[in-house]
Amino acid sequence: MSEVLLSAKNLVKRFGGLAAVNDVSVDLWRGRIHAVIGPNGAGKSTLTNLLSGDLPLTTGSITLGGADVTGRSPERISRAGLGRSYQKTNIFLPFTVWENVRLAAQSRAQHAASWLRRATSYAPTNELAERAIDLAGLKPRRDAIAGTISHGEQRQLEIAMTLATQPKVLLLDEPLAGMGVAEAERMVELLHRLKQEHAILLVEHDMDAVFALADRLTVMVNGQVIASGTPAEIRADAGVQAAYLGE
Ligand code: ADP
Ligand code: MG
Repeated sequence: MSEVLLSAKNLVKRFGGLAAVNDVSVDLWRGRIHAVIGPNGAGKSTLTNLLSGDLPLTTGSITLGGADVTGRSPERISRAGLGRSYQKTNIFLPFTVWENVRLAAQSRAQHAASWLRRATSYAPTNELAERAIDLAGLKPRRDAIAGTISHGEQRQLEIAMTLATQPKVLLLDEPLAGMGVAEAERMVELLHRLKQEHAILLVEHDMDAVFALADRLTVMVNGQVIASGTPAEIRADAGVQAAYLGE
């Protein structure tokens, strides 16, 4: 069943005189991928940083799973169910895929209250890690050293590490960046699988992937939303063609 898991209203972020995000609203639904596209400097990464709490809002409000999370720390927002893919630098290259995902699952347990930690112990953390690896399509690479797997597999590992924290909402900033054709196809399949259980915000430059995956699109230019709608509506939008797609 579809439901809004994250709702952001009238988000504004100013850096001095620059409005990097200027009155942007977005709803993320379980079972849907909402893509945000736009040229470099449009404010896409800033938007994801506002949603995750990594940057403080200038104005606006955010609810997550029905709770107001406006102004909360990234840790608290993460515990409330938001996951963003780890930067590659979060991967411990000398450790195995399993060990990395296990650590990510554990870091969530460490944040939990002590009574919850005692109640959860080790077995569920292992289960969580096992499930995340499976979901991310990394089962065959479970015991490989993270530093020896391909670039595409390392990106899958980042997603597995995020899944191990059991998010309801996933923020993915350019998950296909630097991928070859086969790797990109695998990531598209993975994102398609993930959307069944999650609400996903996808920032991506690969337009084939965006139009293959997105249920809704928001087009940003200079911090502002110039169009929002279904893939068909966005394709047909003359303003979007002029500003972005018709390059
Ligand atoms: P995108 O991800 O769409 O390429 P960004 O969100 O990274 O765009 O950047 C949007 C605008 O905000 C750019 O003009 C960028 O230079 C500016 N910007 C981003 N982060 C900061 C910051 N921490 N301080 C000042 N300006 C920033
Ligand atoms: Mg960016």
